[in-house]
Amino acid sequence: MTGEAEKPPERPGYPVNAEPSSAGPGRAPFGLPAIWLRVNCRCAHCWDSRNGERLVSITDLPREVSVRTARRAGDRVEIVFGPDGHRGAFDVGWLSQFAIGDDEAGGEGRHPAAGEPSMDSLTGEDDRTEDAKRLWSADEIAEAFPQGSWPLFRADAAHRQACLTAVLRDGFVVLRDVPREPGAVLTVAQSIGFVRETERGPFLDVQVGALPPSQAFTGRPLTPRTAQAFRDPPPTLELLHCLDDAAAGGESMLVDGFHAAASLRARDPAAFAVLASSEVTFAYADARAELRATRPVIGVDPRGRIREIRLNGNHMQPLRLPPDEAVAFYAAYRAFAEMIGRPGQMLTFLLRPGDCLIFDNTRILNGRTGFTGGRKRHLQVCWTDLDGLASTLALMRHPRRNGRLRSLRNYSRSPRASAVASPGDVIHNFLHTSLFKDRLRRARRSMLLPELLTFLIEDRCLCRETCSPGGRPPSSAACSPQD
Ligand SMILES: [Zn+2]
Repeated sequence: MTGEAEKPPERPGYPVNAEPSSAGPGRAPFGLPAIWLRVNCRCAHCWDSRNGERLVSITDLPREVSVRTARRAGDRVEIVFGPDGHRGAFDVGWLSQFAIGDDEAGGEGRHPAAGEPSMDSLTGEDDRTEDAKRLWSADEIAEAFPQGSWPLFRADAAHRQACLTAVLRDGFVVLRDVPREPGAVLTVAQSIGFVRETERGPFLDVQVGALPPSQAFTGRPLTPRTAQAFRDPPPTLELLHCLDDAAAGGESMLVDGFHAAASLRARDPAAFAVLASSEVTFAYADARAELRATRPVIGVDPRGRIREIRLNGNHMQPLRLPPDEAVAFYAAYRAFAEMIGRPGQMLTFLLRPGDCLIFDNTRILNGRTGFTGGRKRHLQVCWTDLDGLASTLALMRHPRRNGRLRSLRNYSRSPRASAVASPGDVIHNFLHTSLFKDRLRRARRSMLLPELLTFLIEDRCLCRETCSPGGRPPSSAACSPQD
């Protein structure tokens, strides 16, 4: 993996209190409101620790919740709620990550962005916005071009992790040396998530003269755009595998749409506001499908952060806006298009046979230069989604959350395992006695221990008896409800 760079810049965390403060009826430990604590109570009455699901609804709780007493005991905060006397207990480490404080203490609380990549957190911060990304201009990303090797991607978990991180952070990665075989793009997609099949099947051939008829299937240049903008939701990841390149031309052009939108916001905030608030319809129709999606060109989250770009001039439908607003929209749309086309925004490079480009379709705008040579240029495209990629990455970063690995570790400590001679025997016996035997048939017998562990991590356990699906709350969170 080259092109790996430093983590995105840190965002300020929330101040925290190390110690629970004396609680009034409205405010409670760590500056959290009493109703917040009660809604998120981790007692066995309120919370199913096996699957991380809440068991009570908001209407099950008293309207006027208060904190009667709050007491810290070791790593726990024990709370008695009013008016009903309900008892809850929280793990301090868990609670402190949500702390909202305004005073002295500092302490062990943390915001996910402060100490670890935010896309890795389970705390609810949105990893899809500009805040979680490293925005780039062409010059900046050219020096740290995100690329990897498909053979290494398959064999080396650290390399795979670096490549997937690049997609979340930079918006794309190019994997080299993917076999030039039809359908190989599906193997790549399946290694990171679930293929988003369409009415055209699991993948499409992009070749001059192929169907469906659109500009992509000619030799004409394509301005950078969102793929499949007419779908709702659109696929959030596109994979483009080059089986053969053009005789001349056909270079890929990528633009960081978040960077371009942020630049527009800085230069022309009124244009940004128009594009973030005007609804635009993108549509496509042929004999097999009639698709349409109506969204703003620049999607922002409730805090105004850029979260999604949807730009595709080929599929944009006539606006249904009052004349003044239509004029303002087209002016803003032109300003954005000019920003995208400015020198320094567009990264141009040639996908060579065996290269597979993977990009975030909510952020990266993908185009190409015109080319000659007719049908020689042959790409295959398929789609998958960002949440699957993020999940794959999270499980790699947190193997302790993986049921099989935990079970293997537990097994290795068991009397049954300690009765056999070597670590290899432990593994062998584990495979043949474990609940996962059937799911491990695809593991090669020649696998060495590191490979086998990687295999176990990737082929996640679905066993409910041994493993706890979802997050495992801190064990100290359990408590006895009084009511
Ligand atoms: Zn409770």
